[in-house]
This record gives sequence, structure tokens and C-alpha cells, in this order.
Amino acid sequence: MMVVESEAVVLCAQDYGESDRIVTFFSVEWGLVRAMAKGARRSRKRFVHAFEPNSVVQVGLRQRRALSWVESCRLVEGHLALRSDPLRWAYAGLLVETTLRLNPENLPNPTYYVLLRSGLARLGTDRDPANVAALFLVRAMRILGALPSLERCCQCGRTMAEASLWRLSLAAGRFSCGAHSAADKEGIDLDKGAAALLQAMLQAPVEKIWRFRLRKRAVHGLIKAVCAWVEDHTGQSLKSRRLLHRMETGPEIPAPSSTSAALVVSP
Ligand SMILES: [Zn+2]
Repeated sequence: MMVVESEAVVLCAQDYGESDRIVTFFSVEWGLVRAMAKGARRSRKRFVHAFEPNSVVQVGLRQRRALSWVESCRLVEGHLALRSDPLRWAYAGLLVETTLRLNPENLPNPTYYVLLRSGLARLGTDRDPANVAALFLVRAMRILGALPSLERCCQCGRTMAEASLWRLSLAAGRFSCGAHSAADKEGIDLDKGAAALLQAMLQAPVEKIWRFRLRKRAVHGLIKAVCAWVEDHTGQSLKSRRLLHRMETGPEIPAPSSTSAALVVSP
């Protein structure tokens, strides 16, 4: 079997037996893929700093019937800015964990790869990591086909210009205007500005979405709503969400500063 190379993000790595590790990547070539790194625990020289979560690597896999083997793995981007900041690191954990939960193995999704790679890079530099996480989660839902259309009210057909309040329900797959809010018990409320911003963000090229800024309330509402959907959908709770909740409510690390009132600003 020949070795095929791909750029990839390291999602996680676990020890296996005496000397090996099993590494999970999200790659350009294969999407989500798990592979055995033979001897990775014994010889640190062979794979120098290559299996740190959130790192971008160039990986060479020898494909086998059961589990591929890692033949080479070279660090491309270690995201040091993320590693030195616990809150940014925790948000990176949320991006990685939702990627693990929502993507099937061995299904290439180059658009999702660009979203993940650029999202992790932006998390290291953006003044508001929560905003980056919210944009990532909403766009990921769209890429994976789990987000309803935000073009118009799914119940009465009103367009964005014709209503000032909107409700997005991921569980019901509905985006509806405020006229139905008495009947629609579940979902996140969005004002016209936030709804229009999401609509514009969903139409922008994936690597360019990070300049969009949601208000703080929408940021946290969207993160909560997508996390709840992921947990319902997979039947597993998200550890990273619980960690973030503790960090943002605990005394030791301040919550990210509130976002600008401006809806869209340049990077
Ligand atoms: Zn309506």
C-alpha cells in the first residue's frame, strides 16, 4: 500500500499498548480519520511535537484495511497563541470536540477543513474568542446540512426586511418570524440585525467569516443552542462546553469582553 500525504488538523491522540498511539485527524484528503502511530510513545524523535491537539500537520498515511498507519507527520503550525491562553484553548477544544462528534470517518469535506483550520488560527488572535466559536458552530451546521434556511420565515414567508424579531430552532429545523413566537416555544431569539448578520456570514467565503461580529447575547445564545443540538443529536455531552461554562462563571478567568455594538467591522 502506498503512502498518501495530506494536510490535517490533529484532533486528539491516545496511547495504545506499550509503544503506540492512535491519532485522530481532520484532513483535507480523508476528512475525519484515525490512524496508528507505531512506536510514537517510545521514540519521540520520529514524530517531534506532531500529535499535539489543534496543531496543523502534514501527515503521510499508509492505508490498511482496518486502521491506517502514520508513516510521517510534520508540524506545519503549532498555534502557540492558543496554548498560552486557557480560555482560547478551551474554545479550541469546543471546535475540535464538535468536529469529532459531527463528522463521519473517511468522508472528505474540504470546506469544513478550511473552516476548522482558519477558525483555530483566528481563535489565537481575535479579541473575542467566543464570537469566533459562535461563527464556527453556525457555519459548521450549515456545511453539514443541519441549519435551516435563513432566507425567509418558514411559516409565513416573510423576508428579513418584513419582521424585526426572529426565532431559530435547530431541534425543529425552523427559522420563523416573531408572529409565531407564541406557538414556537423552543429556539433562540434573534433581532433583525443578528439575523441579517448570520445570513450575510453564511454567504461569505468560509475563510472570510471571522470579520463578522455578533452581539454578546447572540454569541452565547448561539453557542448554547448549537451545543444543545450536538448533545441531543449524538447522545453525548460535550466536555469542552462544561469546561467553558466553569471557566466563564468561575472567579479565576474573566469572561471575554463584550463585543462592539457595530454589526460588522473589518478585521
Ligand atoms: Zn412568519
